[in-house]
Amino acid sequence: MRRLEDLVRPNILRLKPYSSARDEFQGKASVFLDANENPWNAPYNRYPDPMQWQVKDRIAELKGVDRDRIFLGNGSDEAIDLILRAFCEPGKDNMVTITPSYGMYEVAAAVNEVDCRKVLLDDRFDLDDKAVLGATDERTKVIFLCSPNNPTGNNLDREAIYTLLRRFDGMVVVDEAYIDFSSHPSFVRELGEFPNMIVLQTLSKAWGAAGIRLGMAFASPEIIRIFNKIKYPYNVNQLTQEKALALLNEVERKERQVHDILTERDRLEHVLVKPPFSYKVYPSDANFLLVNVKEPDRLYEGLVRKGVVVRNRNYVQKCLGCLRITIGTPTENDILIREMKDLIL
Ligand SMILES: *Cc1c(COP(=O)(O)O)cnc(C)c1O
Repeated sequence: MRRLEDLVRPNILRLKPYSSARDEFQGKASVFLDANENPWNAPYNRYPDPMQWQVKDRIAELKGVDRDRIFLGNGSDEAIDLILRAFCEPGKDNMVTITPSYGMYEVAAAVNEVDCRKVLLDDRFDLDDKAVLGATDERTKVIFLCSPNNPTGNNLDREAIYTLLRRFDGMVVVDEAYIDFSSHPSFVRELGEFPNMIVLQTLSKAWGAAGIRLGMAFASPEIIRIFNKIKYPYNVNQLTQEKALALLNEVERKERQVHDILTERDRLEHVLVKPPFSYKVYPSDANFLLVNVKEPDRLYEGLVRKGVVVRNRNYVQKCLGCLRITIGTPTENDILIREMKDLIL
């Protein structure tokens, strides 16, 4: 069994992090002359809380996890990059992920010169745990999974994820960007059982705040301490921390919007499977539909000309013929349906 110290890059393990003024002082004071800030223009003259404790306390309360199991970053994308930088030695170590899935894992791997091994999902877009384990070797540090998966929309088989958590001697990342739309429970509640698990969530989808850039990683306190060592000291700015806190106090609004999006997802699905479309729509546990259409490129281009942009996944392995359609407002979805009818008739 590899211990955490065997998985983390040696230079990161040795690293003594930058200690900012606000790190070194903790307590109450009224005169801050420690950080070379301008004394006027409050509150934005001050550096933000480097550990974002107010936001973390609220997330801890919402998710039922300890606050020292939470890392916050500039979108989940920051966490994805930090995971690779913390664990994978450039040019030597590798990671394994699934395909089709979120494109950022591979890009972040390439930036960090980490070999990214992709294991094809099966014909139902499900996870083949044996194939994933088969793709690992002694230099594999991380497995990236995404559930519900983007762009396929399905939850990955839970037992297969458990198998990887138990059998793989390294980190297993479960990206839950779409968890608020899912009928399946989050893995966050099971962090205690799996010290090698990292769960990613975000404010970018269900919470309706892609613009403020706030991503969350949940893991053991030891792993979170490593991320905190590597991150930029003030990686989540003051405006984002304030807005995130306000949004996280609007749980009802979020749930109402999730409910409305799911209602619209079902409506759109029913329209698309029936004539005149008669498309194959893959089951979705997220806020988008993967739809197998006739003439995907022509339909995509036609929609763009009408000012309606969807995602063309026709060139993605296993998604031949597919468009990925995000669920919009009822009005937007009506426009989509109308323009699609126009294009196929
Ligand atoms: C949209 C999405 C994210 C969100 O990334 P942010 O950087 O938090 O906006 C993460 N993972 C997946 C799979 C996504 O589809």
